[in-house]
Formats: sequence, C-alpha cells, structure tokens
Amino acid sequence: MLSAVNRQGKPVVLAGTKAKSLALRLKNTPHYCPQCGSPVRIKAGNVNIPHFAHISHTLCQSFSEHESPRHLAGKADLFQWITQTAEAELEACLPGGDQRPDILTGNIAVEFQCSSISAALFKERTEKYTARGMIPFWIYGGKPVERKGSYVKLTPFQRLFLRFHPQLGFYFLSYDPERKGFTVYKNITPLTVTLCTAHQRFIPIQDMTFPPSASGSERDVSDLNTFFDYRRKWIDQTCQFDRGHRHPFLQAVYASGRNPYLLPEHIGLPVRSSIAIRNHPIEWQFYLLLELEKCPAEEIIRRRIELGHVKEQPLPLAGGKTPEMAAVEYAALLDVIGNPLSLDSPSLGVKLEKEKAFTETFGKTVLDKLIF
Ligand SMILES: [Zn+2]
Repeated sequence: MLSAVNRQGKPVVLAGTKAKSLALRLKNTPHYCPQCGSPVRIKAGNVNIPHFAHISHTLCQSFSEHESPRHLAGKADLFQWITQTAEAELEACLPGGDQRPDILTGNIAVEFQCSSISAALFKERTEKYTARGMIPFWIYGGKPVERKGSYVKLTPFQRLFLRFHPQLGFYFLSYDPERKGFTVYKNITPLTVTLCTAHQRFIPIQDMTFPPSASGSERDVSDLNTFFDYRRKWIDQTCQFDRGHRHPFLQAVYASGRNPYLLPEHIGLPVRSSIAIRNHPIEWQFYLLLELEKCPAEEIIRRRIELGHVKEQPLPLAGGKTPEMAAVEYAALLDVIGNPLSLDSPSLGVKLEKEKAFTETFGKTVLDKLIF
C-alpha cells in the first residue's frame, strides 16, 4: 500500500515525484496501517516503487490481495494524475472497513485492477460502491489485450470492464504503468465468440482528462462480409470439434432437417448488445427464430440460458445491457429489414451469392444499428 499514518495519526502518502526521497527520509520512523492499526514498514528498494508493508502478516482485511509492483506503480500514477485536477484520497478507508478503493475522489471510487478476480466478486464490489452512492471507476491493469490481425480478443475477465456510452459504444479502458498511458478500445463489436472489432487508441497519461471524456465516434466495421466470413469459420470449427454433433446448436439445426452452412443470411447478424451473450449470434438467433412467432424474444433467450444452450456475459458496468436486450434488438432489426423469409440455400455457391446480395441491400442498415 502507498498510504499509512504516523505516530500522530497524520496520513503519509508515498506517491508522486518526491515519493522516493520521502520514503528514504522516513524509513526508520514508525508508521501504522490506517485500517487495522498494526505497524507497517517502508520498503524503498530499487525494483519496486516505495510502499508500506505490514510488518507481520496480520488479519488486516484491507489489502489481503497481494499487491504487485504493477498495481502499486499504476495506483501511484493514477493518484498523481487525478490530483492534478481534483481532490483525492489514496486508499481511503470507508465506513464499515470492508472496502478500500485505490483512490477516492468525490464520489468516484477508482479501482486499478491488475489481477483476475471472479465475475461474482467484481459484481459484489461494484454493487457495494453503488449502494454507498458511489460511482465505481474500474480501470483494467492486467496483461495486454490480445490482438489477432486487426481484431482484439477480450477474455471473460476483461469483458467485465466493458462500459457503454452512446458516443463510444461499448468501450474498455486500460492503463499500463510501464508505458505511462491509457489504451481506450471503443465501438467494440463482437465478430465471433471471442474476437471483436474495436477502435483502439493509446493516450499518454498527461494527455488524458479526468474523468475521461468521450470523443467523436467512428465506425470501424465497414463490411458485413467480414461477419459472414467469420460466421462460416465458426461453423467449420464447431462442426469439426470432435463432439461437434453434440453441440446444442448443431443438434437443433439437424433436428429441423437443415444444414448449418446453408441457413438464411439474416441468422447470425451482429447487434449492439450481443456482447452480453457468450455464443455466436448464429446460435442464439437460430433459437429465437424457432419460437419468435409465439413467444417474446426476451423469454426465449432467458429460457435458453437456463437450459445451458446460451451463456450470459456479465457486464456489471454496462447497466441494462443484457442478453434480453440483445434479443429485443435482433427482433427489432428483423422488423426493420423486413424479416426476410429467405429460404436456406441449396448449395454453398448460391449461399455466397446471397450473402453478397444481402450485404448490398441491408449492410448499411445492420451496421448503422450497431452505433447510435
Ligand atoms: Zn492493516
């Protein structure tokens, strides 16, 4: 941790340009953990940034997670960044003692999260802040987002950080203490279960405002054909997987006497909230179309989640973006494009022709729906 109190109960903070000299000067002065009151020691070596550490491993609840050098460095950077324009408290103790945000500024609780935590814990912490009337501001600090060509691959843990803004679409904010800057991924749109298209921008910390402001929106998905290509690849992979025939989607397709490669073009389209579902759009949209005439879209998707055919991606920071919303968006999209009752194609050759024609006719409509 970067803050402690001295014998007089005054806070001592090791952050900023003078942190090292302060740490060396106070190295032999007793300091105490503001949370549990037990003695802490200043550590000021050459590897890690100066910080406080409990002398004996007590039952202190506040920093039970091991704080990595990366976490300490990022926290110090972010504190310095915020205090240039706002009042802030490092590692503030909140009443009750069960939560201690990395930085507290006004009612914004900043959490710089480097290590993976479960979706349940992430949600619990977020809800506790909200219940206190505070706004949790999570910044991702883990390993870099994996890139694949011009696409990004977000892990389920990284997806927990997704927020939604009308101008940015789904966006993701990470900070790297080594590069001293933020990477903003915006207009994130899932292409497959794991790959997303995104507009990526690196912003040095000194050029970023706090709180970050939204800049103009750009569209990054230029062509629906990309989605169709990846849809075909996804079907390939799913069919080839050794237990592919037991896949609930393929079972449902075969049970209806159809071929997954030849399904109509309007099954498996991107919609904005489909990021709330951890399945390929072709899967859940196929399930929807089986029953959409006699049942509301929200009910169908929820039942498929309960059956285990569809997996929900928790998005604790993007309130209201749920699988139900994705289902409703899809039903609305079908209304706009006239719910084309196009039939299955007789061959892959015909299918490719029809995809091309669909892109020309509906491509813009579909892509416009992804962004406000
Ligand atoms: Zn303590």
